[in-house]
Amino acid sequence: MNKVKNISILGSTGSIGTQALEVAKMYNLNIKALAANSNAELLAKQCKEFNAECVCIYDDKYYKELKSLLFGQNVKILTGMEGLCEIASDNSIDILLNSVVGMVGLLPTLKAIENKTDIALANKETLVAGGNLVMELAAKNGVNIFPVDSEHSAIFQCLQGNKRSQLKKIILTASGGPFFGKKLSDLENVTVNEALAHPNWSMGNKITIDSSTLMNKGLEFIEAKWLFDLTPEQIEIVVHRQSVVHSAVEYNDNSVIAQMGVPDMKIPIQYAILYPDRLKCSCKALSLTDYGTLTFEKPDFETFKCLTACIEAIKRGGAYPCIINGANEEAVGHFLKGKIKFLEIGELVSNVLDKFSYSEIVTYEDVINWDKEARDFVNRMI
Ligand code: MN
Repeated sequence: MNKVKNISILGSTGSIGTQALEVAKMYNLNIKALAANSNAELLAKQCKEFNAECVCIYDDKYYKELKSLLFGQNVKILTGMEGLCEIASDNSIDILLNSVVGMVGLLPTLKAIENKTDIALANKETLVAGGNLVMELAAKNGVNIFPVDSEHSAIFQCLQGNKRSQLKKIILTASGGPFFGKKLSDLENVTVNEALAHPNWSMGNKITIDSSTLMNKGLEFIEAKWLFDLTPEQIEIVVHRQSVVHSAVEYNDNSVIAQMGVPDMKIPIQYAILYPDRLKCSCKALSLTDYGTLTFEKPDFETFKCLTACIEAIKRGGAYPCIINGANEEAVGHFLKGKIKFLEIGELVSNVLDKFSYSEIVTYEDVINWDKEARDFVNRMI
């Protein structure tokens, strides 16, 4: 590595954030600022361990707790969206890791890009809801967006050293989630705990539910479209139960290049933070013979309505991806609280597509507006 990198992390107490801090520790990166939603205890602990100059607790209910936990420390304590944006706008950082959950991540991403700071992006809603805004601004300011999502990291890795103009399509792999092979009638009475039991990856609640409905793959489809400037027709989704092939790309000569590894987020997190270096990683090495068989199948678009709705949304364009994302966030929240049934998530997400007519996203306010409209729609329906 050339020099010590200065890094700030939004979402430092989550699954991606804590693993990123392990990478920071291993490679002696300088942590400038950390932010979390509500876990004041862990945030304070991380702040002390990594000597952060600044911390932000998004939910101001926990501000007092954080303040008392950090009593006597020389650290700036912030709250709310203002705090996240202040951290994102710090000119002295080399890279901002944005791993917050949900739409909250969009404005800090835009702030970092305005400041010409490279981003390691784990917040997929940012690109789903405001993809055109983010990518246009990033191109204008010459900012790199390094994908942290394992599939997009895989595609990014497969694109290294080849000509982007000679790319034919990408193959986005999906684990299929805990309900692969099930039909609609099998899923009527799925409980929250069943939906939270993911076979390969351990993640936060929202993304785990999204993985069980395949909404996550739909969001990734949209994310890939923006990150790699593709048409929806250039993206093929393939169910690959073992999560060893993290995705692949196909070039004009029909050569397919895939990136493989054990299912461990450490690899994509580390690659995004340390790019272009490939240094020793604490994850296990891949043994292909331990797996023996790798399987590939077509997804079931009829059962997993969220996936179908996402592809339809990006084909229609405009505000549709933002609208289904907002509807989904709201529906998943209700499902986690036991207020709606599992299959209602997919129904609500598909329904919004037909309830809204086409409109453009031109500004950040448009994103906020359509996101809210979609959430209000879901709340009226339940
Ligand atoms: Mn993923």
